Amino acid sequence: MDLSYILNHLGEDRDQYFDAVTPPIIQSSNFTFKSVAHMREMLKSEMDYPLYTRGANPTVAILRKKLAALENAEDAWVFSSGSAAMTAAVMAQVESGDHIICIKNPYSWTKNLVEVLLAKFNVAFSFIDGTSVANFEAAIRPETKVILLESPNSITFEIQDLKAVASIARSKGITTIIDNSYCSPLYQKPLDMGIDIVMHTASKYLGGHSDMVAGCLMASKEHIHHIFKSEYMTLGATISPHDAWLMIRSLRTLPIRMERTLQSTSKVIDFIKDHPLVERLYYPFDEAFPQYELAKAQMDAAPGLFSILLRVDEVSQVEKFVDSLKLFILAVSWGGYESLVLPMCVTGDSENYQSEHKPFNLIRFSIGMDDADALIEDLKQAFGKIS
Ligand SMILES: *Cc1c(COP(=O)(O)O)cnc(C)c1O
Repeated sequence: MDLSYILNHLGEDRDQYFDAVTPPIIQSSNFTFKSVAHMREMLKSEMDYPLYTRGANPTVAILRKKLAALENAEDAWVFSSGSAAMTAAVMAQVESGDHIICIKNPYSWTKNLVEVLLAKFNVAFSFIDGTSVANFEAAIRPETKVILLESPNSITFEIQDLKAVASIARSKGITTIIDNSYCSPLYQKPLDMGIDIVMHTASKYLGGHSDMVAGCLMASKEHIHHIFKSEYMTLGATISPHDAWLMIRSLRTLPIRMERTLQSTSKVIDFIKDHPLVERLYYPFDEAFPQYELAKAQMDAAPGLFSILLRVDEVSQVEKFVDSLKLFILAVSWGGYESLVLPMCVTGDSENYQSEHKPFNLIRFSIGMDDADALIEDLKQAFGKIS
């Protein structure tokens, strides 16, 4: 199915709603039935028939079809946040006594899910360096149920060999789950490489306008049904029909937003990578990136998120540099229209505001829809303040 068809038409049945071009926001929690027999019948398919909006909702159903198609998945489900989607996906696979393998340094709340929330229920875990396939093999135990991936991660961008890890997991009956948010569904298709469940935060590229928080899972019908039945309906992290509608609207422009992001990012990277005040660049499609070959083999592009080590001696110089930026807004998150800067010294917990994998001079950028030359000018003047 071609991408424009998915984004412009798939799932949209216009004669159901007055031939309106844009789908309606069915802002209703509840749905009524014509007869007891009809109601009894429909209660059997709560996932597909609108009955109550924590289950199926017609606006969300349109989105669900598009999201599944974007990842070449049989099915998808939408959540009120990326974190809720990840939690439901992982919890559906494990019970007390089981074991999870997770790459080290995943998204912070994924880490919390594994080492705090699931640990409370006696699910053991191993955080491993996912850059080597052998580390996965070594960590597998008889009770391992899940391998949790994030490729690349969103700060230092380490990647995992998805085909190799998927094939090891399949041979042992272990479910693989990946956070694919960085690449968006456009630039990496993990299900095609044998991964079982794909998760995205839609608060980043899929939403793209910094006006919503949402998440989704894409997988086989069997997996989605299993997750829906228990974890999703119990945890109840439902997307609102209005946010689903916003996301449908955002998806229309996903390809051109991503194209623009790629073009601008490549200009900014060209400027930044040989700059004397840049000690190191973290960007998967930079030739000097340690896993450049693997990145090229399994990703179609590396979008607008990258990090640098600023060549300075003191955290005060990092602060001066970041505070001098004008177009790059100081904030968490990424993937919106606005360009962002996030110095990791805001999160570091020990001396000099740094931790093991977050040196004090590590700074992450997200390239938005701003003019690339204007962004470069902004960086130039900020570098000027510390040189
Ligand atoms: C933001 C983010 C999440 C969590 O998504 P929410 O929608 O904020 O819950 C998960 N993974 C990555 C890589 C993220 O950047």
